[in-house]
Formats: sequence, structure tokens, C-alpha cells
Amino acid sequence: MKNTGNEIFTALRNLLGKSGKKIVIVPHENPDGDAIGSAIGLAEIVKNLGHTVQIISPGDYPAFLKWFSTEVEIMVFEKNKKNSKAAFKNADVLFCVDFNEAKRAGDLEKYILEFHQTKVLIDHHPHPVNFCDFTVSEPSYSSTAELIFDVVRQLNFEAHINHEAAEALYTGIMTDTGSFSHNTSNPNTFKVVSQLMVYGINTDKIQSNVYHNFSASRMKLLGYCLNEKMEVFPEYRAAVIFISKEELGRFNYEPGDTEGFVNYPLSINNIVFSALFIEKEDFVKASFRSKGNFPANAFSRDHFEGGGHLNAAGGETKLPLNEAVEKFRQLLEEYKHQLKETNF
Ligand code: 5GP
Ligand code: MN
Repeated sequence: MKNTGNEIFTALRNLLGKSGKKIVIVPHENPDGDAIGSAIGLAEIVKNLGHTVQIISPGDYPAFLKWFSTEVEIMVFEKNKKNSKAAFKNADVLFCVDFNEAKRAGDLEKYILEFHQTKVLIDHHPHPVNFCDFTVSEPSYSSTAELIFDVVRQLNFEAHINHEAAEALYTGIMTDTGSFSHNTSNPNTFKVVSQLMVYGINTDKIQSNVYHNFSASRMKLLGYCLNEKMEVFPEYRAAVIFISKEELGRFNYEPGDTEGFVNYPLSINNIVFSALFIEKEDFVKASFRSKGNFPANAFSRDHFEGGGHLNAAGGETKLPLNEAVEKFRQLLEEYKHQLKETNF
């Protein structure tokens, strides 16, 4: 780990080495496999160290992440505000996982900022904001889950990793790398995976639980999006998919149904930049994916109030859906040279 000094490990060892602490773990809003997997993995390990642990998610999360063998319960703040607030109030330690600024935790931002006991961030997004007492930020990692494994080993707590933790951490790595299809040029990722597999996790079953667990209407929504709602711009090496609330309703949309849609255009020959715009209740959610050195995060930050990783970013806009898509089309002209020069 390049960015994390020894003094942080000494402090974390002292913090967690003595049992009986009350610990809260928070993933980011609209948690993905890495956020949930990291939270559960870390929760299992600190539980095995003799602490009491509670995961609090800002909002609900998709069904394809509700199969873990952990017994640690995930409290959804949106549905259980009273108990969530009490957990924050009583906690000795707060872990923030898989996000780099407090506002990525949505409605939990306020409780994170107001928390006055020890706060620890473990994350792999670039440019972390300094809102915690201890920040373990390693953007070279494929996933927060991979990083948690190395942090735990560095702390000499490896004996406290169990099957449940390994299953959750593996899921985080698997989902953030699109089943080992991107962000996998670091051998450490596979080293960690092989060490997690020693715990007897069923990786075929995990793959199936996450990716072969869709409703028929979600598959039809995907077909509809690719067939009727995707525009490809070969001259810009880019593509966009956009979908309205009404269309989502037609396909019995459930949270998580559009997860992964943004990746499909990148399978088209010579396309290096893909965008997905989804109309929500009072804003439009944007997702961006890129290949090579085209910075999806800078694009999102500069035009859609967002951020993320170089090749995977998200954002939003208050523009109506059609205007958001039009803005994207016009921006492509501005980025024409950068897109043309993208080496991939
Ligand atoms: P997704 O497109 O899957 O929502 O997000 C892709 C990546 O961008 C994830 O790493 C996520 O954490 C990050 N991301 C998504 N939405 C936002 C946002 O509104 N702001 C920032 N800073 N990052 C985001
Ligand atoms: Mn992640």
C-alpha cells in the first residue's frame, strides 16, 4: 500500500485490538457489490475480533445483493431512521467504505460529519476528501474489498477472516472488476482472490447469485434499451443509452435493474466512451464508462456534478432527460480529439 503510513496501522491495531467496541459501517448511497461486500466483509472480521457491529446503508439495495451467508444485518436508514440514529449515537468507531466524500453517503452525510468518535475511511476512489480521523485511500486497488483484505492482513488480523467475510470480499472484487474483465492489470487482485478462495467460497454460485438472478422484465428492458434507446456515434467513438421513468414503469422496474447497462456499448468495436441517462423522480442519473485514458470521472465532474474512477463514474443533472442527452451529444464534439486519441 503506497499511500498508507505505518502510524495508521498502529492506530487501527490499537483501536480494534481490544474487544467490546461498538462499530458502525456505512457504504455509499445506491450501494453496489463492492460497497455491500466491503461492508459485510469488514463487519464479519470486526465481529470475530469481539466487537459489536452494525452496517447502516443510506438506502435500500438491489435484490442481487441480498443472498450473503452473513448473519450481520444491514439496517436501511431510509426505512429505520430511529434505530440508525441510535446506532450512530452509541458507536465508538465509524467505518466508511467505498466512498471518498461524506456526501456520497446521501442522507447519512450529516450523521457522518457529526460523528465525534473515531472515524475511519477505507476506499479506492481517487481524490479522497479529508473527513475522517484515519484515511486508508489506495486508488490503485481494483476494489475496496481487495484493499480491506490487505489492510486486515497488515493489521495481523488475518486469523479473523472467515468464510462469510471471504464470500463478501470476493463479491466486491468480482463486481468492481466486472467479473475480472476490467481493472485487473494488478497481480495483487488475483493474489487476494486466490487467498479468499482458500476459505471454501463457491465462486460459481456467487457469479450466478449476482449476474444470473434477474427478472424476465429486466432482461426485456435491457433488450429494449439496446434495440431502441441506444445511439452510437462512431465518429466520436462514443454511445449513449437513455431511458425515461415511463419506460422503466412499462418494464416493472425494480432498483438495480439498470445496473450494468452502461457497459454494453463498450462491447461495440472501437467505442471507448459510454453514457447512460436514467430519469428519476426529480433528477436524471448519469453513468459513464470509458476505456484507456479517457477520464470518465473528469467528464462527469465537469459536466454532470459527479465523479468516480477514471473508467467508471457517475453523476446527475436537473435537466430534463432529453436535454441531458442533447447536452451529452454536444459535449462529444468538444471531446472529439481526446476521444480520437484515446489509446485502447
Ligand atoms: P455508477 O455509474 O455505477 O453509479 O457509478 C460508477 C462509479 O462512480 C462508482 O465508483 C461510484 O462510486 C461513482 N459515482 C457514482 N455516482 C457518483 C456521484 O454522483 N458522485 C461521485 N463523486 N461519484 C459517483
Ligand atoms: Mn468500489
